[in-house]
Amino acid sequence: MPTAPVRYQITPVRPEAHLFEVRCTVADPEPTGQRFSLPAWIPGSYLIREFARHVVSARATQRGRELALRKIDKHTWQCAPARGPVTVTLEVYANDLSVRGAFLDTTRAFFNGTSVFLRVEGHESSVCLVDLRAPRGRAYRRWRVATTLPRAEAPAYGFGGYRAADYDELIDHPVELGTFALATFRAHGVPHDIAITGRQDADLDRLCRDLKRLCETQIDLFGRPAPMRRYLFLVTALGDGYGGLEHRASTALVCSREDLPRPGDAAINDSYRTFLGLCSHEYFHTWNVKRIKPAAFAPYDLTRENYTGLLWAMEGITSYYDDLMLVRSGLISQDSYLELLGRALTSHLRTGGRLRQTVADASHDAWIKYYRQDENSPNVLVSYYLKGSLVALCLDLILRQKTRGRKSLDDLMRLLWTQYGLTGSGIPEDGVERAASQIAGSSLKRFFDLALRSTEELPLRSLLAEVGLDMQLRQASSSSDKGGTPGPQPALTRAALGARIADDAAGARITHVLEGGAAQQAGLSAGDVVVALDGLRVNARNLEQRLSAHAADSQVAAHFFRRDELFATQIRVTPAPVDTCNLTAVRGAAERKRRNAWLSG
Ligand code: ZN
Repeated sequence: MPTAPVRYQITPVRPEAHLFEVRCTVADPEPTGQRFSLPAWIPGSYLIREFARHVVSARATQRGRELALRKIDKHTWQCAPARGPVTVTLEVYANDLSVRGAFLDTTRAFFNGTSVFLRVEGHESSVCLVDLRAPRGRAYRRWRVATTLPRAEAPAYGFGGYRAADYDELIDHPVELGTFALATFRAHGVPHDIAITGRQDADLDRLCRDLKRLCETQIDLFGRPAPMRRYLFLVTALGDGYGGLEHRASTALVCSREDLPRPGDAAINDSYRTFLGLCSHEYFHTWNVKRIKPAAFAPYDLTRENYTGLLWAMEGITSYYDDLMLVRSGLISQDSYLELLGRALTSHLRTGGRLRQTVADASHDAWIKYYRQDENSPNVLVSYYLKGSLVALCLDLILRQKTRGRKSLDDLMRLLWTQYGLTGSGIPEDGVERAASQIAGSSLKRFFDLALRSTEELPLRSLLAEVGLDMQLRQASSSSDKGGTPGPQPALTRAALGARIADDAAGARITHVLEGGAAQQAGLSAGDVVVALDGLRVNARNLEQRLSAHAADSQVAAHFFRRDELFATQIRVTPAPVDTCNLTAVRGAAERKRRNAWLSG
């Protein structure tokens, strides 16, 4: 039976105190005592965040009179038995600059529905009407609204009435309020907006041109029409930042303002390439994870962890396509793409945890491991983003090999789109593997057992050879060497501490000790600050350089602080591992043809 709409009103009531006031009115509450709750997590970010912790106060009223409201668990409130409309009013503290929470100050506001809108238990499928109010005062008169939450009475980009079909939709359209820059383009007829908050001087025309190509390439991959009526890139430009969260018709991004293209710049530099890669990643999620989703997410259970082994496919396949779409849309060259791929391979080889954790386990345990990393994480965790993207690369090349180039990962994505995306049914845990075997025309069980459920190395070298690429390995040439290029010639021999280090006022602070390396053998621990080698002060920038000046296998005296106690040890000079990869094209017309087919789609 359809129930009356749930009405919300949200007001940035005290920007200087970071406080929203949020009202939620239910016309026909549960007579025995209506329950209201806030989500424990936000879809796309697999960590229990307990958004209710930012609720400063909560009260219930009926026809202007107080109604008893009690907290029954950390996320949930229950009001006294009542007939007729009940309103719950929250004060919510919002001072989180990330894309996952809510933010409000005197310069702007941003919120995800998960941080502010109560779920009225039992009314999740009711229409949600939102009255979005402007803050009071002359200082805010130029504020406007950027969101894909469908408008009801509100004017375009304005305050007023908005409407969501149900609670699931209500919390999937983040909202920006303020004086952002705005640009618009169409991709295959669908209006796309870019709203950029923060001081910046970006070339918006160029951004629109580049994103249009990128978005149209992705729409073409899955097939027209695009699944959304409009789309919004909500960008917060900071001095330093990186991150994004996907939604059904928008994405919230945080970037460094240096990553945006500057007027007069024609080339795509490293940082703009990174920004386009981020946009590409989140846009691909419009299909993969927002609509093609694990059965465990259909529907989401917002009260607790939702376990799935499929994040390698949701995040890994998306990470594979993010840079691939840049080359396929012609925004970057093949060489530029191969540099990015070489960097990804390098980063994977530098993660010792790839030999300890399977990518299926990494996916299942994301809630307690990937999202809660500590000083031991590089030794014991593998990233379902990064390894998942390399599994996707292998799968793409295997499908091409097995079908003599007639089929590819693109066909798998289109099959998943038809079977699950368009029908709205969730993918069973083995659904991607079954669909891949269907495309291949034979069982891929052995590959998936190795790639997803073992810690064996992926067959990258042989598969890349099929497309005429040779994986070359060398030592890193410096601590900032990310791989992807051949490196200086002749190569220098370097020593490695076997630890990740950061600058500290006193010396070099160890953040992570890598399994089996020189630091671990010397008894160094995360948190230690190395202050001297051979009796001379060191810092994070020169420590490994100074070690490299000694003969291999010799011992170097080191002094370090553990807490406030000074200790001495000996560090054995150990060669840096051969973990830095670049890809070079080798001869062979057939291989080159296959490579071109792969990179041009
Ligand atoms: Zn993602």
